[in-house]
Amino acid sequence: MALSNSQYESIIRTYERTRDENHQIYEEHVKEAYEKLPELAKLDEERGRLMESRLSALFGEKSEHTDHIMTLEEIALKRKMILTAAGYPMDYLSPVYTCPDCQDTGYITDSEGIKSKCHCFRKQEMAILYEQSNIQDFIEQNNFSTLSYEYCEGEDLERLRGAVKISLDFVKSFQNDYRNIIFFGTVGTGKSFLSGCIARELLNMGHSVIYFSAINLFDTLARYSFDAKAKETLYNFYKDLYNYDLVIIDDLGTEVTNSFVTSQLFSCLNERHLNKKATIISTNLNLSEIRDRYSDRVFSRLTSSYEFCKLSGPDVRMIKKVN
Ligand SMILES: [Zn+2]
Repeated sequence: MALSNSQYESIIRTYERTRDENHQIYEEHVKEAYEKLPELAKLDEERGRLMESRLSALFGEKSEHTDHIMTLEEIALKRKMILTAAGYPMDYLSPVYTCPDCQDTGYITDSEGIKSKCHCFRKQEMAILYEQSNIQDFIEQNNFSTLSYEYCEGEDLERLRGAVKISLDFVKSFQNDYRNIIFFGTVGTGKSFLSGCIARELLNMGHSVIYFSAINLFDTLARYSFDAKAKETLYNFYKDLYNYDLVIIDDLGTEVTNSFVTSQLFSCLNERHLNKKATIISTNLNLSEIRDRYSDRVFSRLTSSYEFCKLSGPDVRMIKKVN
Protein backbone atom coordinates (compact mmCIF):
# COMPACT_ATOMS: atom_id res chain seq x y z
CA MET A 1 0.00 0.00 0.00
CA ALA A 2 1.30 3.38 -0.94
CA LEU A 3 -0.18 5.32 1.98
CA SER A 4 0.93 4.76 5.54
CA ASN A 5 -1.71 3.86 8.13
CA SER A 6 -1.68 7.31 9.67
CA GLN A 7 -2.06 8.96 6.26
CA TYR A 8 -4.96 6.67 5.47
CA GLU A 9 -6.60 7.44 8.79
CA SER A 10 -6.14 11.17 8.27
CA ILE A 11 -8.03 10.92 4.95
CA ILE A 12 -10.81 8.96 6.64
CA ARG A 13 -11.03 11.67 9.31
CA THR A 14 -11.50 14.34 6.62
CA TYR A 15 -14.55 12.37 5.43
CA GLU A 16 -15.95 12.26 8.96
CA ARG A 17 -15.50 16.02 9.24
CA THR A 18 -17.09 16.63 5.84
CA ARG A 19 -20.10 14.46 6.78
CA ASP A 20 -20.53 16.33 10.09
CA GLU A 21 -20.28 19.73 8.39
CA ASN A 22 -22.70 18.75 5.65
CA HIS A 23 -25.16 17.33 8.15
CA GLN A 24 -25.10 20.64 9.98
CA ILE A 25 -25.79 22.50 6.73
CA TYR A 26 -28.68 20.12 6.07
CA GLU A 27 -30.15 20.74 9.53
CA GLU A 28 -29.87 24.50 9.04
CA HIS A 29 -31.69 24.21 5.71
CA VAL A 30 -34.50 22.26 7.37
CA LYS A 31 -34.78 24.69 10.26
CA GLU A 32 -34.88 27.70 7.99
CA ALA A 33 -37.39 26.17 5.57
CA TYR A 34 -39.71 25.03 8.39
CA GLU A 35 -39.70 28.51 9.88
CA LYS A 36 -40.50 30.17 6.59
CA LEU A 37 -42.85 27.51 5.29
CA PRO A 38 -44.81 25.93 8.17
CA GLU A 39 -46.90 23.87 5.71
CA LEU A 40 -43.67 22.08 4.81
CA ALA A 41 -43.15 21.05 8.43
CA LYS A 42 -46.72 19.71 8.55
CA LEU A 43 -46.14 17.81 5.33
CA ASP A 44 -42.99 16.23 6.73
CA GLU A 45 -44.85 15.24 9.89
CA GLU A 46 -47.40 13.52 7.71
CA ARG A 47 -44.61 11.84 5.76
CA GLY A 48 -43.11 10.62 9.04
CA ARG A 49 -46.41 9.08 10.12
CA LEU A 50 -46.89 7.47 6.74
CA MET A 51 -43.48 5.90 6.79
CA GLU A 52 -44.04 4.70 10.34
CA SER A 53 -47.23 2.93 9.38
CA ARG A 54 -45.59 1.38 6.33
CA LEU A 55 -42.89 0.04 8.60
CA SER A 56 -45.45 -1.29 11.05
CA ALA A 57 -47.27 -3.03 8.23
CA LEU A 58 -44.01 -4.59 7.14
CA PHE A 59 -43.63 -6.17 10.59
CA GLY A 60 -47.31 -7.16 10.65
CA GLU A 61 -48.11 -4.66 13.38
CA LYS A 62 -51.04 -2.31 13.59
CA SER A 63 -50.23 1.36 13.25
CA GLU A 64 -51.75 4.11 15.39
CA HIS A 65 -51.98 6.32 12.32
CA THR A 66 -54.30 5.06 9.63
CA ASP A 67 -56.03 8.18 8.37
CA HIS A 68 -53.59 9.06 5.56
CA ILE A 69 -54.91 11.41 2.95
CA MET A 70 -51.83 11.44 0.74
CA THR A 71 -49.32 8.89 -0.61
CA LEU A 72 -45.55 9.30 -0.19
CA GLU A 73 -45.25 10.20 -3.86
CA GLU A 74 -47.86 12.91 -3.53
CA ILE A 75 -46.10 14.30 -0.48
CA ALA A 76 -42.76 14.37 -2.34
CA LEU A 77 -44.36 16.23 -5.23
CA LYS A 78 -46.06 18.73 -2.98
CA ARG A 79 -42.84 19.38 -1.05
CA LYS A 80 -41.04 20.20 -4.27
CA MET A 81 -43.83 22.53 -5.31
CA ILE A 82 -43.80 24.40 -1.99
CA LEU A 83 -40.02 24.74 -2.07
CA THR A 84 -39.75 25.98 -5.65
CA ALA A 85 -42.71 28.37 -5.21
CA ALA A 86 -40.81 29.96 -2.30
CA GLY A 87 -37.68 30.28 -4.47
CA TYR A 88 -35.68 27.35 -3.03
CA PRO A 89 -33.95 24.76 -5.18
CA MET A 90 -35.89 21.50 -5.40
CA ASP A 91 -33.27 19.54 -3.49
CA TYR A 92 -32.93 22.13 -0.71
CA LEU A 93 -34.07 19.64 1.91
CA SER A 94 -32.08 16.69 0.58
CA PRO A 95 -28.98 15.51 2.42
CA VAL A 96 -25.92 17.57 1.44
CA TYR A 97 -22.91 15.76 -0.04
CA THR A 98 -19.61 17.26 -1.12
CA CYS A 99 -19.12 14.17 -3.28
CA PRO A 100 -22.53 12.76 -4.26
CA ASP A 101 -20.81 9.75 -5.90
CA CYS A 102 -19.64 8.25 -2.61
CA GLN A 103 -21.87 10.33 -0.31
CA ASP A 104 -18.68 11.46 1.45
CA THR A 105 -17.63 7.99 2.53
CA GLY A 106 -14.63 7.80 0.17
CA TYR A 107 -15.78 4.45 -1.21
CA ILE A 108 -18.16 3.42 -3.94
CA THR A 109 -19.79 0.03 -4.35
CA ASP A 110 -20.37 -1.25 -7.88
CA SER A 111 -23.32 -3.33 -9.11
CA GLU A 112 -21.54 -6.54 -8.04
CA GLY A 113 -21.08 -5.28 -4.52
CA ILE A 114 -17.34 -4.66 -4.90
CA LYS A 115 -16.10 -1.68 -2.89
CA SER A 116 -13.45 0.60 -4.31
CA LYS A 117 -11.94 4.01 -3.59
CA CYS A 118 -13.91 6.93 -4.97
CA HIS A 119 -12.25 9.46 -7.31
CA CYS A 120 -12.34 11.99 -4.45
CA PHE A 121 -10.35 9.59 -2.23
CA ARG A 122 -7.80 9.03 -5.00
CA LYS A 123 -7.46 12.79 -5.33
CA GLN A 124 -6.60 13.19 -1.65
CA GLU A 125 -4.26 10.21 -1.84
CA MET A 126 -2.44 11.80 -4.80
CA ALA A 127 -2.08 15.10 -2.95
CA ILE A 128 -0.33 13.30 -0.06
CA LEU A 129 1.87 11.20 -2.33
CA TYR A 130 2.96 14.22 -4.33
CA GLU A 131 3.66 16.27 -1.26
CA GLN A 132 5.89 13.66 0.31
CA SER A 133 7.69 12.83 -2.91
CA ASN A 134 9.87 15.93 -2.50
CA ILE A 135 9.56 16.48 -6.19
CA GLN A 136 6.29 18.30 -6.78
CA ASP A 137 7.66 21.45 -8.43
CA PHE A 138 10.24 19.56 -10.40
CA ILE A 139 7.84 17.21 -12.15
CA GLU A 140 5.41 19.94 -13.03
CA GLN A 141 7.93 21.05 -15.66
CA ASN A 142 9.67 17.74 -16.27
CA ASN A 143 7.34 15.07 -17.61
CA PHE A 144 6.82 13.05 -20.76
CA SER A 145 4.52 15.72 -22.19
CA THR A 146 7.34 18.29 -22.18
CA LEU A 147 9.89 15.85 -23.66
CA SER A 148 11.71 17.33 -26.66
CA TYR A 149 14.35 15.88 -29.02
CA GLU A 150 15.04 19.32 -30.41
CA TYR A 151 18.53 19.80 -28.98
CA CYS A 152 19.89 16.37 -29.83
CA GLU A 153 21.30 14.78 -32.96
CA GLY A 154 23.28 11.77 -34.16
CA GLU A 155 24.50 9.39 -31.51
CA ASP A 156 23.22 11.64 -28.71
CA LEU A 157 19.73 11.49 -30.16
CA GLU A 158 19.90 7.68 -30.43
CA ARG A 159 20.94 7.49 -26.78
CA LEU A 160 18.12 9.78 -25.69
CA ARG A 161 15.56 7.74 -27.65
CA GLY A 162 16.93 4.56 -26.05
CA ALA A 163 16.74 6.11 -22.59
CA VAL A 164 13.17 7.27 -23.15
CA LYS A 165 12.21 3.75 -24.23
CA ILE A 166 13.84 2.26 -21.11
CA SER A 167 11.97 4.82 -18.98
CA LEU A 168 8.61 4.08 -20.58
CA ASP A 169 9.18 0.31 -20.23
CA PHE A 170 10.16 0.83 -16.62
CA VAL A 171 6.85 2.59 -15.92
CA LYS A 172 4.85 0.01 -17.86
CA SER A 173 6.35 -2.99 -16.07
CA PHE A 174 6.67 -1.32 -12.68
CA GLN A 175 3.74 -3.11 -11.10
CA ASN A 176 5.07 -6.57 -11.93
CA ASP A 177 8.84 -6.35 -12.47
CA TYR A 178 11.53 -5.27 -10.07
CA ARG A 179 14.00 -3.08 -11.99
CA ASN A 180 16.53 -0.34 -11.28
CA ILE A 181 18.10 2.25 -13.56
CA ILE A 182 21.24 4.29 -13.38
CA PHE A 183 21.28 7.23 -15.79
CA PHE A 184 24.80 8.43 -16.37
CA GLY A 185 26.41 10.99 -18.63
CA THR A 186 27.47 14.61 -18.68
CA VAL A 187 25.53 17.57 -17.25
CA GLY A 188 22.26 18.64 -18.90
CA THR A 189 21.67 15.55 -21.04
CA GLY A 190 18.29 14.68 -19.54
CA LYS A 191 19.11 12.30 -16.67
CA SER A 192 17.14 14.16 -14.01
CA PHE A 193 14.47 14.96 -16.56
CA LEU A 194 13.82 11.28 -17.23
CA SER A 195 13.81 10.47 -13.51
CA GLY A 196 11.14 13.18 -13.14
CA CYS A 197 9.09 11.74 -16.01
CA ILE A 198 9.11 8.30 -14.40
CA ALA A 199 8.30 9.71 -10.96
CA ARG A 200 5.29 11.59 -12.25
CA GLU A 201 3.84 8.59 -14.08
CA LEU A 202 4.25 6.35 -11.04
CA LEU A 203 2.79 8.93 -8.65
CA ASN A 204 -0.21 9.23 -10.93
CA MET A 205 -0.60 5.46 -10.74
CA GLY A 206 -0.69 5.76 -6.95
CA HIS A 207 2.83 4.52 -6.11
CA SER A 208 4.92 6.08 -3.39
CA VAL A 209 7.94 7.90 -4.78
CA ILE A 210 10.58 9.86 -2.95
CA TYR A 211 13.19 12.05 -4.53
CA PHE A 212 16.52 13.21 -3.10
CA SER A 213 19.47 15.04 -4.46
CA ALA A 214 22.49 13.04 -3.28
CA ILE A 215 23.71 16.05 -1.26
CA ASN A 216 20.37 16.36 0.51
CA LEU A 217 20.04 12.62 1.15
CA PHE A 218 23.45 12.16 2.80
CA ASP A 219 23.19 15.47 4.69
CA THR A 220 19.87 14.35 6.15
CA LEU A 221 21.22 10.92 7.05
CA ALA A 222 24.29 12.47 8.71
CA ARG A 223 22.22 14.98 10.65
CA TYR A 224 19.91 12.30 12.08
CA SER A 225 22.65 9.71 12.61
CA PHE A 226 24.83 12.01 14.69
CA ASP A 227 21.99 13.42 16.77
CA ALA A 228 21.20 11.21 19.76
CA LYS A 229 17.77 12.83 20.11
CA ALA A 230 16.80 12.00 16.53
CA LYS A 231 16.74 8.20 16.92
CA GLU A 232 13.07 7.85 16.15
CA THR A 233 13.25 10.31 13.26
CA LEU A 234 16.18 8.37 11.83
CA TYR A 235 14.29 5.09 12.22
CA ASN A 236 11.29 6.51 10.33
CA PHE A 237 13.52 7.99 7.68
CA TYR A 238 15.17 4.61 7.06
CA LYS A 239 11.77 2.97 6.94
CA ASP A 240 10.71 5.30 4.11
CA LEU A 241 14.04 5.15 2.37
CA TYR A 242 14.04 1.35 2.32
CA ASN A 243 10.35 0.80 1.60
CA TYR A 244 9.04 3.45 -0.77
CA ASP A 245 7.96 1.98 -4.10
CA LEU A 246 10.56 4.13 -5.86
CA VAL A 247 13.51 6.11 -4.54
CA ILE A 248 15.31 8.55 -6.82
CA ILE A 249 18.83 9.63 -5.95
CA ASP A 250 19.71 12.52 -8.20
CA ASP A 251 23.22 13.75 -8.99
CA LEU A 252 25.12 11.01 -7.16
CA GLY A 253 28.73 12.13 -6.88
CA THR A 254 28.02 15.79 -6.17
CA GLU A 255 28.09 15.08 -2.42
CA VAL A 256 31.30 15.02 -0.42
CA THR A 257 31.95 11.29 -0.53
CA ASN A 258 33.42 9.73 2.60
CA SER A 259 33.17 6.37 4.36
CA PHE A 260 29.85 7.37 5.99
CA VAL A 261 28.33 8.20 2.60
CA THR A 262 29.66 5.00 1.03
CA SER A 263 28.31 2.76 3.77
CA GLN A 264 24.92 4.55 3.82
CA LEU A 265 24.70 4.26 0.05
CA PHE A 266 25.44 0.55 0.19
CA SER A 267 22.84 -0.02 2.95
CA CYS A 268 20.24 1.88 0.97
CA LEU A 269 20.89 0.05 -2.31
CA ASN A 270 21.16 -3.31 -0.58
CA GLU A 271 18.08 -3.01 1.63
CA ARG A 272 16.02 -1.83 -1.30
CA HIS A 273 17.33 -4.69 -3.39
CA LEU A 274 16.39 -7.20 -0.67
CA ASN A 275 12.93 -5.61 -0.42
CA LYS A 276 12.63 -5.71 -4.25
CA LYS A 277 11.98 -1.97 -4.31
CA ALA A 278 13.07 0.02 -7.34
CA THR A 279 15.73 2.71 -7.29
CA ILE A 280 16.77 5.22 -9.93
CA ILE A 281 20.12 6.94 -9.73
CA SER A 282 21.42 9.72 -11.91
CA THR A 283 25.06 10.69 -11.96
CA ASN A 284 27.60 12.69 -13.93
CA LEU A 285 30.25 10.13 -13.00
CA ASN A 286 31.37 7.55 -15.53
CA LEU A 287 31.74 3.87 -14.65
CA SER A 288 35.36 3.96 -13.56
CA GLU A 289 34.72 7.07 -11.46
CA ILE A 290 31.84 5.28 -9.75
CA ARG A 291 34.10 2.32 -9.01
CA ASP A 292 36.89 4.54 -7.70
CA ARG A 293 34.68 6.75 -5.56
CA TYR A 294 32.49 4.16 -3.88
CA SER A 295 33.37 0.75 -2.47
CA ASP A 296 33.57 -2.46 -4.52
CA ARG A 297 30.40 -3.72 -2.91
CA VAL A 298 28.49 -0.59 -4.03
CA PHE A 299 29.88 -1.02 -7.53
CA SER A 300 29.01 -4.70 -7.69
CA ARG A 301 25.49 -4.06 -6.34
CA LEU A 302 25.03 -1.51 -9.13
CA THR A 303 26.46 -3.67 -11.91
CA SER A 304 24.51 -6.74 -10.80
CA SER A 305 21.06 -5.22 -10.43
CA TYR A 306 20.91 -1.92 -12.36
CA GLU A 307 20.35 -1.13 -16.01
CA PHE A 308 23.03 1.32 -17.08
CA CYS A 309 21.64 3.95 -19.36
CA LYS A 310 24.07 6.42 -20.91
CA LEU A 311 23.07 9.86 -22.10
CA SER A 312 25.27 12.26 -23.99
CA GLY A 313 25.15 15.56 -25.82
CA PRO A 314 25.28 19.26 -25.19
CA ASP A 315 24.06 20.78 -21.93
CA VAL A 316 20.40 21.42 -22.79
CA ARG A 317 19.92 23.59 -19.72
CA MET A 318 22.67 25.93 -20.92
CA ILE A 319 21.23 26.05 -24.45
CA LYS A 320 17.80 26.93 -23.05
CA LYS A 321 19.31 29.65 -20.86
CA VAL A 322 21.16 31.23 -23.77
CA ASN A 323 18.16 31.14 -26.12
ZN1 LIG B 1 -16.33 10.56 -3.57
